[in-house]
Amino acid sequence: MTATRPVSTPRAGYGAMTLTLPGADRKRKPAAYSFRVTYRAPDPAEPGCVMTWQVAGGREPYQVALERLKSGRVRWHCSCADATYRGEDDHLHACKHVRGLHDCLPPVG
Ligand SMILES: [Zn+2]
Repeated sequence: MTATRPVSTPRAGYGAMTLTLPGADRKRKPAAYSFRVTYRAPDPAEPGCVMTWQVAGGREPYQVALERLKSGRVRWHCSCADATYRGEDDHLHACKHVRGLHDCLPPVG
């Protein structure tokens, strides 16, 4: 077996990290959330989906996605209720999952 996949092939990797975020309980006690990378684009500068994460540790599992727009800017998406409802009215609003990830990544534009 000598066949190796080209490094640029998108794949589900083993990248995962745990972040401490305000918890889902009423007191927002800090809780551990795990972020597992489920997709990485071969070229992060190309418009489209750059990366996606599966978030565990909250009330439900959530999906976070980082999208590269044609303008070169990026937009974050999260499937949690906070992002869905508050993000609709305020496009600059970022839920705690997105804020936590954002703080752990290099500047992406
Ligand atoms: Zn969220």
